[in-house]
Amino acid sequence: MSQQLDLAVIGGGPCGLTAALYGARAGLHTAIFEGRYPGGQMASAYLIENFPGFPEGVLGGELAEKLEKQATRFGAEVRYQPVEGLALEPELAVLAGGERHPARAVIVATGAEPRRLGVPGEVELTGRGVSYCATCDGALFRDQRVVVVGGGNSAIQEALFLSKLASTVLVVHRRDQLRADLVLQERAFANRGIGFAWNSVVERIEGEPAVSSVLLRDTNTGATRPQETDGVFIYIGTTPSSGFLPAQVARDELGFVITDQCLATSVAGLFAAGDVRAGSLRQVVCAAADGARAAVSAHRWLEGG
Ligand code: NAP
Repeated sequence: MSQQLDLAVIGGGPCGLTAALYGARAGLHTAIFEGRYPGGQMASAYLIENFPGFPEGVLGGELAEKLEKQATRFGAEVRYQPVEGLALEPELAVLAGGERHPARAVIVATGAEPRRLGVPGEVELTGRGVSYCATCDGALFRDQRVVVVGGGNSAIQEALFLSKLASTVLVVHRRDQLRADLVLQERAFANRGIGFAWNSVVERIEGEPAVSSVLLRDTNTGATRPQETDGVFIYIGTTPSSGFLPAQVARDELGFVITDQCLATSVAGLFAAGDVRAGSLRQVVCAAADGARAAVSAHRWLEGG
């Protein structure tokens, strides 16, 4: 068992890194637990154009690196260990790397992960044409045809990114109107490399050994048609990464952690911030703000305030 921390932060995305920065600056012995790499979902975003202070935009990976540097500069420690669970008794403790890491307060900042389509072929062909990260896998589809599923900011932003590499990009959206911000819509409509399959859903993904087509269904008529493609990028929203939390931590029906205004959860000393909490705005700037607020709340709680 390691020495008791004042503050354990689970998740090293913009929220967790900011929480650790604030915790460390407040003089708390703080550690961040991160199973993969710093930045979370943000690290796989190509360009972030709406984070204040970066008029030309900033690469997701670059911002993650800077945030990590900033947090560690003030004494926060990063433990690259996947978190297996959270113990509430006899004291709060993060279970990671096969060890128990006790902490006086814990902030859950585990964010969210891509929602799956749940159609035949999706699981089997993941990594063989099916992807949830254009920034990671886009280069594999240079001069090939790709389909992007979804109509939100993520889908359109990544369709724009893919249009620089792929020969064609077809956005498959279940309605006849995009959900994405107007500025992204305008860019996508003006882009000759991007086409749209409106009122359409993917029924199945096919190919052996790799993706070669998708079966599209028209949501108005029910008619189906095959669409040849080499890649399928799925951006249909996210689900919270909260499955590792004990049942005592209150969550809504979708699994998002319920907090009060101070970001305190139903368990004393446990806070939740960023995309994993119910009501989050799911923007990088809001994740960072949440991290700051949770750290300040945790500090006050530790001081008995
Ligand atoms: P989102 O905004 O929830 O959009 C999900 C899209 O997928 C919607 O168009 C939705 O269709 C569609 N969809 C959902 N379930 C589906 C299904 N089963 N089959 C087919 N289509 C389905 O998710 P997101 O784009 O990942 O964005 C998440 C959050 O991050 C948002 O708050 C977004 O603003 C933010 N974000 C911001 C930026 C930016 O500011 N540049 C970039 C990326 C993400 P409907 O429209 O019909 O519901």
